[in-house]
Amino acid sequence: MILAVFGDALLDPASGETTRDAVVLIEDGKVTRAGKRNGTQVPRDAETIDAHGLTLLPGLIDCHVHLTNLGEGLDFARELTTPPTLELMRAVRAARQTLEAGFTSVRDAAGTPAGVRMAIDAGYFPGPRTFVTVSALSQTGGHTDSHFMCGADLDIPLPDRPYMVVDGVENMRLRVREVIRAGADWIKLCTSGGVLSPGDQPHHSALTLEEIKAAVDEAATQGRRVMAHAQANAGIKNALKAGVATIEHGIWLDGDAIEMMLDGGNALIPTLVAPHWVIRHAEAGKMPAYAIGKARAVIDDHKASIRLAIESGVKIAFGTDTGVGPHGSNGEEFSLMHELGMKPIDCIRAATTVAAETIGMKGVGNLDAGAWGDLIGVAGDPLAELSLLAKPASVELVIKGGAVVKSR
Ligand SMILES: [Zn+2]
Repeated sequence: MILAVFGDALLDPASGETTRDAVVLIEDGKVTRAGKRNGTQVPRDAETIDAHGLTLLPGLIDCHVHLTNLGEGLDFARELTTPPTLELMRAVRAARQTLEAGFTSVRDAAGTPAGVRMAIDAGYFPGPRTFVTVSALSQTGGHTDSHFMCGADLDIPLPDRPYMVVDGVENMRLRVREVIRAGADWIKLCTSGGVLSPGDQPHHSALTLEEIKAAVDEAATQGRRVMAHAQANAGIKNALKAGVATIEHGIWLDGDAIEMMLDGGNALIPTLVAPHWVIRHAEAGKMPAYAIGKARAVIDDHKASIRLAIESGVKIAFGTDTGVGPHGSNGEEFSLMHELGMKPIDCIRAATTVAAETIGMKGVGNLDAGAWGDLIGVAGDPLAELSLLAKPASVELVIKGGAVVKSR
């Protein structure tokens, strides 16, 4: 089947150029041509989509989401009465909301079993192309250790979602092997404390350099790379020294850490919108007090750190931590990146070309011939008005693999 999408304009993130009166041709799910309508041979049997008034661009990519998290604040009583199957089913709704907001690819940063990716690929329910990490590994008492001081443990290991707590080099190798066995595309480690976990602090590092190295080595043996939840300065540096690929959050970068990232070509995934959502949930009475205090304490340092990274030319890839905030609100991150000094085109590159390269997903983030037919249509010029990408209602057209998933 051939699909021809006619739009007022076509934005190519790689070149930054906008073509007026454009057409995108998709055959059997893959792009065959994207460019000026004039001079393009549109096959007579093509199905056509009139996207007048819309700017077409490649489907967006979010490098840090949590599809099985509810995104409506943190309520331990609710979690205690949520069976694992219900938690899993949250991903069905989250996947659709994410896709309909224009995000046609994501990397899930923990919680989502590989079966979700497989179900989306099989067409059981609509969702973005998904890479999963399955379980985020942290030390005892670390960011994903869900033992509480009362003695209760909220982490219910599933056959395809291995236990998340790990201590020691040999144990780390075992955990990484378990996560890969469960179908992980990426390995997620927590090399510092975090905001939503009650028992640790974001400015403290976590896991030893040797433990992180063991994970990176074990992952590489099986063709995987490592993403590090890394907020503390020492946690960021340990992760970089050990060879992780991406730094998530990066609240306390300094000159040395930035130098290491530039040398290593590592990407930073800022998730600027995450602490905002914690505070918004808090104002609605949906956050425990410890998390509110932590979110307020980090928000200014986070901004300063990301601003420094942007100014220094660190590779910035788009990521939001949705699941902290509501699914589908991913686009709110764009204006926060812009406020800290990124040009609109660089914000869009962060969520297309740079994100695709960062997570290593093939055929996404561009509309070159041979790419997946994943594209969105936005009501206006996103370069002039970046906030259009923040409103799912402005993303009037979403096509994934040549199949229309949303149109006005
Ligand atoms: Zn996260």
